[in-house]
Amino acid sequence: MYWEKEIETMPVSELKALQLQRLQHTLLRALTSPYYRRMYQAEGVSADDVRTLADVQRLPFTTKQDLRNGYPYEFLTVAKEEVVRLHSSSGTTGQATVIFHTAHDIADWANLIARCMYMTGARKSDVFQNMSGYGMFTGGLGFHYGAEKLGVLTVPAGSGNSKRQIQFMKDFSTTIIHAIPSYALHLFSVFAELGMEPKRDLHLKIGYLGAEPYTEHTRRRVEEMFGVRVYNSYGLSEMYGPGVAFECPEQNGMHIWEDCFLVEVINPQTLEPVPDGEEGELVLTALSREAMPLIRYRTRDLTMILPGECPCGRTHKRIARIKGRSDDMFIVKGVNVFPMQVEAVLMGIPEVGTNYQIVLETQDFMDVMTVKVEMRGEVFTGDVKGLQTLQHRITTALKSELLFTPHVTLVEPGSFPEAQGKAVRVIDHRMRNEE
Ligand code: AMP
Ligand code: ZN
Repeated sequence: MYWEKEIETMPVSELKALQLQRLQHTLLRALTSPYYRRMYQAEGVSADDVRTLADVQRLPFTTKQDLRNGYPYEFLTVAKEEVVRLHSSSGTTGQATVIFHTAHDIADWANLIARCMYMTGARKSDVFQNMSGYGMFTGGLGFHYGAEKLGVLTVPAGSGNSKRQIQFMKDFSTTIIHAIPSYALHLFSVFAELGMEPKRDLHLKIGYLGAEPYTEHTRRRVEEMFGVRVYNSYGLSEMYGPGVAFECPEQNGMHIWEDCFLVEVINPQTLEPVPDGEEGELVLTALSREAMPLIRYRTRDLTMILPGECPCGRTHKRIARIKGRSDDMFIVKGVNVFPMQVEAVLMGIPEVGTNYQIVLETQDFMDVMTVKVEMRGEVFTGDVKGLQTLQHRITTALKSELLFTPHVTLVEPGSFPEAQGKAVRVIDHRMRNEE
């Protein structure tokens, strides 16, 4: 089955030996692509420079800008005839990039997803409803092939059309769902509209949430709302998509599959490695990809390696919940702010509903940050004074986290349009001199 015990619990020394062997092999392969050949020549490095795993630090990083520069084919290491699929990164920031896969890549990817699902308890008797967008976004097809490989009945529901989703859940007795967190929260409000209670009316037991950052509070909320255990799912198109790192039943960090990825965490300013337990930017090297293996890819995602062994017995390192991207931090009045800080505060307040938005503006040459917070419906049935007290409470809580006072506007449920794909949390209307 998909409990790949030998690999998942491999002694660390063996795992490292496997990684070194795969790294050297991957490097030789990568150097057959025009982009890497040019890049390594320019930097004066070669595959021979890598004799130990630590030697990887001698190699240049690969960035999203490199992928744009090499668009579309310059990172390919196989003839085009060998390519069976392409995916595109969702363009969360800037122009999208394209990633190619051979049949072998697709099979490996499916295997990783099957491994993740099995780890969290998915079995052939389950019904898996995949509420991720199908198409260029990797969450749809990525999970789909993995779930089929595991042998569960897979409902390719796609994203959106919430009433139909709920109908599917009822009709097919769905037990496992996969969605982006913002969609799961939205879906719950549709249940409420229909007078339904997932816990009472459905058979859900497991939820996979990923593709965008969310807090521990949000996880607990979704668990409570749907009556499921939620597992964090991390991945990026440049390394297949989902299936790169996934939580085990301990729900304490995501095992990153080190047989397939070499993991580094660096300080994004100095580019030096940071020790385990310290936050930095995740850098990944693909170890088993064929069509387009990326070396030292700077993910921009901020996380840390969790020190210590996992009680589940798996030896692959765990990374902490992604705090955000180094490029989604914004600066207000000189203070660095991550959207997740705001979410962490909001989701800890019981009256707050399932959605929020941060709007940045310039007034009299000053930054002004307004947090629009969707409330639970019942909040608006109380008196105005109660609302004012609540608004004050939220403002104070945000101030103690952010160290400046934002504006807070309370809005009714359903005030934000349903997002197409990943949620847009920050809208920046500020005037910038440098732009
Ligand atoms: P894409 O490949 O364009 O779909 O997006 C990949 C990016 O989504 C990653 O680099 C992360 O920034 C984000 N992402 C994916 N999974 C998670 C997760 N579980 N938590 C936080 N961010 C995530
Ligand atoms: Zn574990």
